[in-house]
Amino acid sequence: MVQDSRRPLAGLAFATLALALAPARADSGAPPMLGFSAAGAAAEREREARLDAALAPAEMRAWLERLAARPHHVGSEGGRANAEWLREQFASWGFEARIETFEVLFPTPVERALELVAPGRFRARLDEPALADDGDARRLREELPPYNAYSIDGDVTGELVYVNQGLPRDYEELAQRGVDVRGRIVLARYGGAWRGIKPKVAAEKGAIGCIIYSDPRGDGYFEGDVWPRGGYRSRDAVQRGSVADMPIYSGDPLTPGVAAIEGAKRLPLAEVPVLTKIPVLPISYADAEPLLAALGGPVAPEGWRGALPVTYHLGPGPARVHLRVKFAWRIEPVHDVIAVLPGASAPDEWVLRGNHHDAWVYGATDPVSGMVAELAEAKAVGALAKSGWRPARTIVYAAWDGEEAGLLGSTEWAEAHAEELRARAVAYLNTDSIARGFLALAGSHSLERFANEVAREVTDPETGVSVLERMRAARIAKAVDDGERQRLREVADLRLEALGSGSDFTPFLQHLGVAALNFDYGGEEEYGQYHSSYDTAAHYLRFGDPRLDYVAAAARSGLRMTLRLAEAEVLPLTLEPVAAAIGEYVGEVEKLMGTMRRESEERARLLADRTLELAADPTRTFVAPPALDRVPYLELAPLQNAAALLAESAARFERAREAASGRGLDPALAAELNGFLRGCERLLLDDAGLPGRPWYRHLVYAPGQYTGYGVKTLPAVREAVELRRWDEANAQAARLAGLLDRARAAIDAMTARLGGGAAAGAASSAGS
Ligand SMILES: [Zn+2]
Repeated sequence: MVQDSRRPLAGLAFATLALALAPARADSGAPPMLGFSAAGAAAEREREARLDAALAPAEMRAWLERLAARPHHVGSEGGRANAEWLREQFASWGFEARIETFEVLFPTPVERALELVAPGRFRARLDEPALADDGDARRLREELPPYNAYSIDGDVTGELVYVNQGLPRDYEELAQRGVDVRGRIVLARYGGAWRGIKPKVAAEKGAIGCIIYSDPRGDGYFEGDVWPRGGYRSRDAVQRGSVADMPIYSGDPLTPGVAAIEGAKRLPLAEVPVLTKIPVLPISYADAEPLLAALGGPVAPEGWRGALPVTYHLGPGPARVHLRVKFAWRIEPVHDVIAVLPGASAPDEWVLRGNHHDAWVYGATDPVSGMVAELAEAKAVGALAKSGWRPARTIVYAAWDGEEAGLLGSTEWAEAHAEELRARAVAYLNTDSIARGFLALAGSHSLERFANEVAREVTDPETGVSVLERMRAARIAKAVDDGERQRLREVADLRLEALGSGSDFTPFLQHLGVAALNFDYGGEEEYGQYHSSYDTAAHYLRFGDPRLDYVAAAARSGLRMTLRLAEAEVLPLTLEPVAAAIGEYVGEVEKLMGTMRRESEERARLLADRTLELAADPTRTFVAPPALDRVPYLELAPLQNAAALLAESAARFERAREAASGRGLDPALAAELNGFLRGCERLLLDDAGLPGRPWYRHLVYAPGQYTGYGVKTLPAVREAVELRRWDEANAQAARLAGLLDRARAAIDAMTARLGGGAAAGAASSAGS
């Protein structure tokens, strides 16, 4: 690699930071780069071009085939071997690479049985046969059979009820048809929310067992040809997955909040709050069809019907099933691979980039495609380092183990290094599965401008436009009305989605308050093999990303983000999008209150004049829904004021930063500013955490208690409203307003240090 021409940062003690933020265009006409001077931006782009040129698709394909060659779940020989191989690669590229091991609870199945006992008899197959075109010789003996991790043991027999997706609203529909699941076993199809919500709600409603199946309508023949002819789910394929109650906490179920190392205080199994309350088993549609066909009772509502050739009935019965599951409740090691490239001038500031390496079985898509993108980045960065260049800040590449079971490796590592991360972490960048299609960006809104800037500079492999323009086109095409379409055309930056959970960013963002970004490519693959043993290299290379063009695009995206965060003179985090997003969320809560109020009033009217009863078929069971309590007006004014003032503060801060950068920041003030920016995500954390789940401390983003991976923004307020806990909603709105006021005071103090204050508006054209 060519020697790097720019090495201006000595302990980040550059003499001035002229033009560091949002500077004018350089003479060359190159666009500005957030946090860089014109000269710094030019050098950075030159470096990125060199790294792009080092990406080698043939090598990436070989890595993919290697890492997906054998099952590599937690505790497996394949997983241990992959971790060791990953460590060796990072080390050979010049990183200080090590494996950090934690000891976690990881149950694996000992017995699984499911049978229809009446009417007639049918025994479910519960395994996934090898198919002719699997390509790889599947190592059947090493595969984990299909199961849901953290289901409790159980042996139950009962009448079957079909509950659609098994979400709270589905049980309201069942109740109106007089169908009760108490003492019965529910059959739910995948979809609608994270799978762990289905057994949780079923248990709350009194069910004694839960079966989850993949309806062909979701990702099987309804969507396209099935494997091996096409990429969609074949008849015996099963979606494995964790059903731990992850919205309470992620990581090792036995050690919430602390690292699962030797001597850690571990909960007794009987006291673990995140295990399911009833036994759970996932099945294929081949196994589900005879169960559905044996159901009687009312015909399911139209939206509940899948794509199997049967009439979907709700039950209960006459189908009766026997479900038996038993697990080995072992403590297993998870092996996190940590590769460090120390920063030359700011070694105590860490830029973190991670992807998991464990899979349910072969995991060519999930997670190997994303892991390969990260490897390609790391190898290119390592080669640059071997040429003598060093990043200003420390870069940490992580390959996590145990993500599939519940973010085990990343959470334990984050808990083990919590103090260092709070002091040192700049941001955490996450990927998981990558395939053909569109860039998706989600994360801390402090990274919104930054992520958009990078997306503007990465070219889509198949259309030649920027990946940002493709993402914009997709959003415009999907927009619901002309107004939204017009807005999407006009805005420079596209809004980041907020993060719930579902990958390794959770412990960093929502437990520790490290700014986090999750990005991936996808949407044009044929993806019906999710969490089945058919997620193989052969499948991926036909239906995922055959030329690994999008894996390479992910690597180009990731290396830009990682390097720019590591090299920026002033960290490229901005506060205006944070305040704007919070303002939008407050507006959504207010709107939600209005919707719920109208629903309550309308429900009262429908009940008073017996409309629903008269509209129902008198020969069928109809149970009128209960009256809804009156929706009061919440005390939202303090929160609305706090959000509005936060927006003004953020705008003043950005103007002051731009003006100060234009004048030239002295090194001490630059260091102070970077320290402030590193800590700004933590302004949104409250150590008391969310109601009933203190591990989650972020008051703006959290996974929903009844959506799982799906995000709830302003979770403490919004969930209290959704659960109609009005006093709690008022108390949480007041707490959030207080938090935003404190955040504003901290921002104002930094603005004053930058010489901003009230008159800062004058400096809007600084830097030109
Ligand atoms: Zn994954």
